Amino acid sequence: QDLFEGVDFYGIDELLTEEHLLIRQSIRDFVKKEISPYIEDWSQNAHFPSEIVPKFGDVGAFGPQIPVEYGGGGLDYISYGLIMQEIERGDSGMRSTASVQGSLVMYPIYAMGSEEQRKKYLPKLASGEWLGCFGLTEPDHGSNPGGMQTHFKDNGDHYLLNGAKMWISNAPDADIAVVWAKDVNDRIHGLIVERGMEGFSTPETHHKWSLRASCTGELVFDNVKIPKENLLPGKSGLSAPLMCLDSARYGIAWGAIGAAMDCYESAKRYSLERIQFDKPIASFQLVQKKLAEMLTEITKAQLLVWRLGTLKTLGKATSAQISMAKRNNVDMALNIAREARQIHGGMGITGEYPIMRHMMNLESVITYEGTHDIHLLILGNEITGIPAFK
Ligand code: FAD
Repeated sequence: QDLFEGVDFYGIDELLTEEHLLIRQSIRDFVKKEISPYIEDWSQNAHFPSEIVPKFGDVGAFGPQIPVEYGGGGLDYISYGLIMQEIERGDSGMRSTASVQGSLVMYPIYAMGSEEQRKKYLPKLASGEWLGCFGLTEPDHGSNPGGMQTHFKDNGDHYLLNGAKMWISNAPDADIAVVWAKDVNDRIHGLIVERGMEGFSTPETHHKWSLRASCTGELVFDNVKIPKENLLPGKSGLSAPLMCLDSARYGIAWGAIGAAMDCYESAKRYSLERIQFDKPIASFQLVQKKLAEMLTEITKAQLLVWRLGTLKTLGKATSAQISMAKRNNVDMALNIAREARQIHGGMGITGEYPIMRHMMNLESVITYEGTHDIHLLILGNEITGIPAFK
């Protein structure tokens, strides 16, 4: 981990501003100091380090794209992407914690919340005093969230919420949850559920082989009384949670590059040091092919997100463009992790190197926030106008 470099074969750094480079460096230093030395142990022990939450707040990793007046960073989307890239270079689970907080909890409260809700929640979420989670997926509704069964009804001065969510990142440690549920007319709304509300529990999901340093759980609602002021008033319908996913998926497209870079750098170093047949294994053409293809794929992915970030900052990035980048870049990172694993030989399966951890993490990243195949079908729909996933 000492040679923590960036991969920049095409001089993409020249497309970045001084501010972008400074932000990237500060997060790179943070990851090197606060995450990399410990992540292997956290992952091996399936431990979510809750003390990282306020530290993420201090370094500006929560809601960098949210305006400063609400505690966010007021930064553009390239900065946001670079922050996600550097955190995921450390670990996809750590990046998941930051993505959920910034894009899936702070973003909907900012974009769809009332002024009171913004003032009440955003500064505490930005500082890491509170941790949030985002409840969309249910046991019987993953790729098809529109079929959700969690529902609420008007019950005098409050709403009554019932149902269950599954696979929710941050849930066991979260202070609040942004939960998507249907009203009596089957219309989807966002509700802010707070820990301590009677009938609300967050059982942890154990025995994951992936994202082991990130905590995952269920959200169970048994006649939970939700104050009416906790409904997000600004937007309803399935497009409301999908807007949040667009923001998070954008960050994942950058984050995956960080994991890929870490695997590539480790494979490059290892292949130059490991001697077989009296030569470094880097001398063999088959190993060079792997390294050359890794660098090519990372470079293509970097160009994809750089342009996407420019469009996103201008408010012009489409959901289909984000699907393309999320799908391509996570697949790219997973393939690089697998090839890097081979270059490390037997050592590649141990915790001495970050490879196997990244590889296992990326198996979740390729599934959550829209599976690899669902993103392909979103692109298919964009091209043909025919939604094949329905
Ligand atoms: P399914 O939807 O059952 O899909 C199973 C397979 O069928 C997939 O390969 C899929 O591509 C395929 N498939 C489904 N429909 C079609 C179709 N129409 N055409 C072709 N193929 C199809 N959710 C949240 O709400 N909040 C979170 O914080 C969160 N965190 C997560 C953390 C982890 C570690 C994991 C693993 C998941 C998380 N999720 C979260 C849930 C995640 O978004 C879902 O797992 C994902 O959307 C897929 O849903 P599913 O697992 O039910 O799979």
